[in-house]
Amino acid sequence: MTLTASAVPTRVATPFYRAVGDEVAVFRAAAGRGLPVLLKGPTGCGKTRFVETMAHELGRELITVAGHEDMTSADLVGRFLLQGGETVWVDGPLTRAVRQGAIFYLDEVVEARQDTTVVIHPLADHRRELPVDRLGTTLSAAPGFQLVISYNPGYQSVLKSLKESTRQRFVAIELGFPPVDIETDVVAHEAGVDPETARALVMLGNAIRHLEGSPLREVASTRLLILAGGLVAEGLGLRTAVQSAVVQALSDDSDVVRALGELVDAVL
Ligand code: ADP
Repeated sequence: MTLTASAVPTRVATPFYRAVGDEVAVFRAAAGRGLPVLLKGPTGCGKTRFVETMAHELGRELITVAGHEDMTSADLVGRFLLQGGETVWVDGPLTRAVRQGAIFYLDEVVEARQDTTVVIHPLADHRRELPVDRLGTTLSAAPGFQLVISYNPGYQSVLKSLKESTRQRFVAIELGFPPVDIETDVVAHEAGVDPETARALVMLGNAIRHLEGSPLREVASTRLLILAGGLVAEGLGLRTAVQSAVVQALSDDSDVVRALGELVDAVL
């Protein structure tokens, strides 16, 4: 099983991030104490961008892993691999972060099985250590190491919800979709569209988010609105862009697509 881990060296340019509440202050305080952080919020609301911004501000490397159900603890910690006839140990992304004092961001943690995520427990409390059983050793996290996990509380089944004993170790930060003015700025900046277009997209996003009895599993995220805005910036008409980037992306059900289309007509 290959794992998609990405090590993002601290970016030279400061990432663009518009704060929505006191998340920056809370994260800074948690980082000051080396406390782990749990980011809650729907997909596409800015969790990853927020972590990138904080890593940049704190001058730390950021190592990101997307949780999935086939992920094993070896994917995180490391394994012995055959290289040129020799068996060599290769650190996993979590071990690298522990050694280097990086921020380790486990995205969508509930997608991972609980027997996988237990490896993060001793890193989440005062011990700040990682047992590497296969090497018969326990590593102490280097200064600067910080664990950040995220999950979307909206659609996970009870079964998959975060284990209470894991959850209680974290400082929780809730990130929702930004208020209209901030989200308009974000969409205008990220998509490269004028503020009026951005605002129209945000109004539509909000209308979809507030649909009563919505059958949608995901709502129109900031990410989707930026996608639609990007198509407009490329010269596509607003409605066509919305149809492709938002409506069709949200549902395959023809009745739902039709209903969303009517909503688009009403809002735009
Ligand atoms: P998540 O990790 O929650 O799924 P992302 O961080 O990938 O979401 O956010 C999706 C996109 O939305 C980002 O790439 C960024 O362009 C934009 N975005 C969302 N919220 C903000 C914000 N508060 N400030 C700046 N950009 C934002």
